[in-house]
Amino acid sequence: MQATHARTWKTVLDLVLKEIGEQRFKLWLPYTTLRSHEDGVAEVGAPNVFIKEWLVRNYADVLADSIARVTGSRPRLRFSVDPTSAERFRRDQEARQKNAPAEPVATTTPGADASPPAATAKRQALSLNAAYRFENFVVGPCNRLAYSAARSVLEEPGRLYNPLFIYGASGLGKTHLLQAVAWEFRRRRPQAPLAYITGEDFVNAFVESVKRKKVDTLRDRFRNVGVLIVDDVHVLSNKGRTQEEFLHTFNSCFNQNRQIIMASDSHPSAIKALRKELQGRFIAGLLARLDPPTEKTRLDILREKARGLNVAVPDSVLAFLACHIQSNVRHLEGALNRLAAKASLLNEQLTLELAARELRMAGEVRERMITLGDIEEAVLGQFSISSQELHSKTRKRVILVPRQIGMYLARQLTSHSLSEIGQYFGKRDHVTVLYGIRKIEHEMKKDPEFAGLVRTLEAKFRGPV
Ligand code: ADP
Ligand code: MG
Repeated sequence: MQATHARTWKTVLDLVLKEIGEQRFKLWLPYTTLRSHEDGVAEVGAPNVFIKEWLVRNYADVLADSIARVTGSRPRLRFSVDPTSAERFRRDQEARQKNAPAEPVATTTPGADASPPAATAKRQALSLNAAYRFENFVVGPCNRLAYSAARSVLEEPGRLYNPLFIYGASGLGKTHLLQAVAWEFRRRRPQAPLAYITGEDFVNAFVESVKRKKVDTLRDRFRNVGVLIVDDVHVLSNKGRTQEEFLHTFNSCFNQNRQIIMASDSHPSAIKALRKELQGRFIAGLLARLDPPTEKTRLDILREKARGLNVAVPDSVLAFLACHIQSNVRHLEGALNRLAAKASLLNEQLTLELAARELRMAGEVRERMITLGDIEEAVLGQFSISSQELHSKTRKRVILVPRQIGMYLARQLTSHSLSEIGQYFGKRDHVTVLYGIRKIEHEMKKDPEFAGLVRTLEAKFRGPV
C-alpha cells in the first residue's frame, strides 16, 4: 500500500471503528488495506476470501461513507484479497498460536451418563463419521459461506468467529461440516480436548445428572474443552431448564475464548421458546446458512459420492438423479446408494433405464401424465419437422435424430415400454428403440451442446420434485 493510501486508510478506519464499535472492528477490519483509489473506484484489500466476502456483504456502505468523509467523494468499491495483508494475517496467527498456553490433555465425549471431570476423564473415542471430512465436502454457492467459516474457525479457534452458528434444513450437510471441523481440529491439535455433542445428548445428560443429583459433574465435563461442538442445538427448544444449563456451559466456554460451533435446523430467532439470552448469544456470532444445492452442485456431490461406490455409474444416471432429486443431499445420496445396491444385486449395469425405473417406482420422479403425443409435439416444434416425417421409415439424419430424441424422452418421461414407444414412433421394434436411446445417450456424453439441447427439451416437461 502506498504511503498516502496507508495514511488515508488509517483515517478511514478510525471513522469505521467509531461507527461499528471495537468488537466488530477487531473481527473484520484490522488487516484491510486500500490497494488503489483512482477514477472514483477504491479497491479494498482483505487478508482472505472469507473476510472479503463478509466486508462486501456487511460493511461496504460504512466503508464507502467513511472514505467519502475523508476524501470528499463517495467511491465505488471493489474488494480483493491483498497478498501482503494475507501474509501479515498468517504470520500473526502463527505467532499467536505459538504463544498460546498449552491445552489441557483430555478429550471428553459426553454420553447419557454423567462422566468425571474433563481433566481426569479417560480419553474416549469420539463417535465421528470417518467420511465426514473437508476433503469430501463439495462446495458450491449453497454452502460456501458455511464451509469457509468452518475452515476459518480452525485457524484461530475461539477468536475470530465465536460462536459459529450453521443452520439449514435437514440433509444439507450440517453434521458433515461440524464433524469435518472436529476431525481437522483433532488432526491439528491431537492433545486438545474437544467435545462433540448433539442437542439431544445434552438434554439426556442433563436430565440424567439432575436425577442423580450430579449437575456439577456435568458442568465440569465442559469446563476445559478446547472446542465445543453442538449439533442440532434446536432440540433445546422448549426445554427451559436444559437451556439454563446450556447457557452456563456456553458462557463458561465463551468467556475462556473457547471456540463454540453449533448447527441447527433454523435461524436462532426461529427456534421456538428459546431463552432470549441464548438467542442473543447465538445471533451475536457468525451465522452461516446452508441452502439446497443447485443442479450443478448436486451433480458434483453425486460424482464425489459415486467415487466411493464399487459400481460404475454413468454420467447420464448422475445427471438424471441431479435433475430429479432436488430436496436435499441425504435424499440424493440415498437414491444413488439404493440404485448401486440394486444394480449390484441384480448383477446388472447401472443404466439410465434402471435409474428411471427405480425412481419412478419409488415415486421420486414426478409423473405428470406426459403422453407420447406431448413428446411428439415438443420434438416437432423443436426441429421443425412434420408428424408424417417423424412417423415415416426414413433414416435421414435430420429426421432420425429427432425421432431418437423422441424415443429417449419417452423413456425418461413416461412409463411406456420399449415396444409401446417403438409402435408409436413408426412401428419399430424394441431393439431399434433401445439402440436409438443408447445413441442419444452416447451423443449427449460426447457433445455437451447436444446434451444441453436434449436436457432443455426434457426440462420443459419437468417441474421440481
Ligand atoms: P444435516 O446434518 O444438515 O441434516 P448431513 O450432514 O447429515 O445433513 O448430510 C446428509 C448427507 O449428505 C451426508 O451423507 C453428507 O455427507 C451429505 N452431504 C451434504 N452436503 C454435502 C456436500 N456439500 N458434499 C458432500 N456430501 C454432502
Ligand atoms: Mg445433522
